Amino acid sequence: MYPHTSYDKERDMAAKIISGNEIAAQIRGELQKEIDELKGKHGVTPGLAVVLVGDNPASQVYVRNKNKSAHDIGIYSEQHNLDASASEAEVLALVEKLNRDPKIHGILVQLPLPKQIDEKKVLNLIHPDKDVDGFHPMNLGRLMVGEPMFLPCTPYGVQKMLVYAGVQTKGAHVVVVGRSNIVGKPVANMLVQKAADADATVTICHSRTRDLPAVTRLGDILIAAIGQPEFVTADMVKPGAVVIDVGINRVDDPSRPQGFRLVGDVKFDEVAEKASAISPVPGGVGPMTITMLLYNTVRSARLHMKG
Ligand code: NDP
Repeated sequence: MYPHTSYDKERDMAAKIISGNEIAAQIRGELQKEIDELKGKHGVTPGLAVVLVGDNPASQVYVRNKNKSAHDIGIYSEQHNLDASASEAEVLALVEKLNRDPKIHGILVQLPLPKQIDEKKVLNLIHPDKDVDGFHPMNLGRLMVGEPMFLPCTPYGVQKMLVYAGVQTKGAHVVVVGRSNIVGKPVANMLVQKAADADATVTICHSRTRDLPAVTRLGDILIAAIGQPEFVTADMVKPGAVVIDVGINRVDDPSRPQGFRLVGDVKFDEVAEKASAISPVPGGVGPMTITMLLYNTVRSARLHMKG
């Protein structure tokens, strides 16, 4: 059996579950030790600043979770809330201030931003050395040429899940569905690198891909980052494939107190009958994304220490 996977007897299905919760907990434990050492030996506390503009409820939850997770493992974290009517100039001024602040090693601006603010302008102003989200063009370029500094958190989380679950990527055919700048393109770029934990043959699909199921069925590893609830069905999956579900979609569910539940981009029950391993939603890529943000923040503190 792969490490960090378990057989779900109750469901009696074929696939091992790749638990993002378990892998994230292990990485956070390792990070905690590193933070203790940074504080004890070097007097350095990694610092994270999270910027939230407006009152989007989902963003508020994400920001709260990021701050709490950082705080729980000993990262100094501060949250900056700006009003939904904040001007672009105000947001840019805040980012500049955080760029100069020596206690801050990582800056994260929660997306989406209100429409009066140019997201690209804001993200590009974050100093690449503090860009722990890994969205600055400089960091994306570094990733592409195989000299990464900060890797974007969700794709990095996917790669770590494969590593910790003992899935061999070298020589494997990875099929990625989705070509966004935050998930599809970077994860494909990471796994195609001539490097350890990569070395895959990668195919990227999108909404214009002809005969999508025929392409997805080629994947020894199938990564779904589409944003369509339960889009990937069993007939789209190669028998024995490893399936990583990046999707987080709300679907109505009157039986739940909130009136909705979260599902991925993969039809879990039927795909689990065919795959050899699969990540669930929730409890899969989600916790890994936050963990890699913490990981990047600690790495940034180390890099700043070296000067
Ligand atoms: P985007 O909407 O930016 O991109 C979706 C991609 O899927 C696009 O490339 C699109 O193709 C493709 N696509 C959409 N419909 C189809 C289709 N019918 N057939 C084939 N391809 C299709 O989404 P993101 O990349 O930002 O996010 C993807 C999912 O991952 C979402 O559910 C999101 O919530 C989730 N997510 C989860 C995170 C986590 O922490 N776990 C973090 C970030 C995202 P085209 O380019 O042609 O339009």
